[in-house]
Amino acid sequence: VDVKQRKTDIGPPHYKNFLPPVIQKNYGDWKTHEILSPGLMVHIANSGDKIWTVRVASPRLLSTDTLREIAELAEKYCDGYLRFTTRNNIEFLVSDESKVKPLMDELTAKKYMIGGIGSRVSNIVHTQGWIHCHSAAVDASALVKCIMDEFADYFTTKETPNKVRFAVACCTNMCGAVHCSDIAFVGIHRKIPRIDHDNFKNLCELPTTMAACPTAAITPDPAKKSVKINADKCMYCGNCFSVCPALPIADPENDGVAIVVGGKVGNLRKPPMFSKLAVAYLPNNPPRWPEVVKATRKIFDAYVAGAKKHERVGEWIERIGWEKFFAVTGLPFTFQHIDDWTYAFKTFRTTTQFKW
Ligand code: SF4
Ligand code: SF4
Repeated sequence: VDVKQRKTDIGPPHYKNFLPPVIQKNYGDWKTHEILSPGLMVHIANSGDKIWTVRVASPRLLSTDTLREIAELAEKYCDGYLRFTTRNNIEFLVSDESKVKPLMDELTAKKYMIGGIGSRVSNIVHTQGWIHCHSAAVDASALVKCIMDEFADYFTTKETPNKVRFAVACCTNMCGAVHCSDIAFVGIHRKIPRIDHDNFKNLCELPTTMAACPTAAITPDPAKKSVKINADKCMYCGNCFSVCPALPIADPENDGVAIVVGGKVGNLRKPPMFSKLAVAYLPNNPPRWPEVVKATRKIFDAYVAGAKKHERVGEWIERIGWEKFFAVTGLPFTFQHIDDWTYAFKTFRTTTQFKW
């Protein structure tokens, strides 16, 4: 395929057009790589060619000024080549070794946080939150800032038994990688949508609204020319609000954050794992979410202290058992843990088999 010629109006241009020349030249022919420091690694090709990667954290939502600054740094040190990882790290791809140190010096001077490579905390993948989404139960970006502030030293210097991937999703629709991250946060609603009967007939279509509900909790209310919601069936997902603005679900008093743990994407040693419920509810407490940060610290510290080298969080919990997980983290075991609504038979043992 002549990728340079590829033109499409149904997606981005071919990715190979954006690879640095040294990667294009040695494509599929790499010998090894080495982590030189927490934010620096080198890949070595069979031909002897090398490329250095310098990783910095980003808050994902970047100002135009910051984007321009990043682009200018890439022009100056990397012939314009950089990439964003799936977890919103920025990686500068340097082909000339003599430019590595000056780039790192300038990044440090400009207060970018260098690190995140290897067995440590990476940047946090997260969703949009209150910035643009309709069904958010938490401000994802702000919560990310609080978590990253707490664990920044594990990005820049300190090591963990294996990589620790955090994720934040601002509602249970979970556009983030919450289901497959080591420690993850989900914004949750806990009350059914409020029905604005006066506006329903002006703003919403009945068939679309009913069809949007995954649990068939919404039925017509002909007398009001509106709808009814069966509270027993509602799982507070917010899907109906996506199609009908007369069913707002956001609730400053009752919305909160759940923590799930033990997921991973990689299939090294063990197959990929789904996250499981660790904390069913913590209050939504901006701007610093102290309860969420404190609970995360308990999980993180217990993992760092108790895991064997190379164990991911899920592997560590599997080895010690969920009963011990709750004991060593000091997190309360609550009734919500017994019937975990998503993966009931893959998570905890059922009530009678759960042994304290
Ligand atoms: Fe919107 Fe939910 Fe996705 Fe957040 S996780 S961006 S609130 S759909
Ligand atoms: Fe249905 Fe979800 Fe709306 Fe509840 S919040 S009524 S489950 S669509």
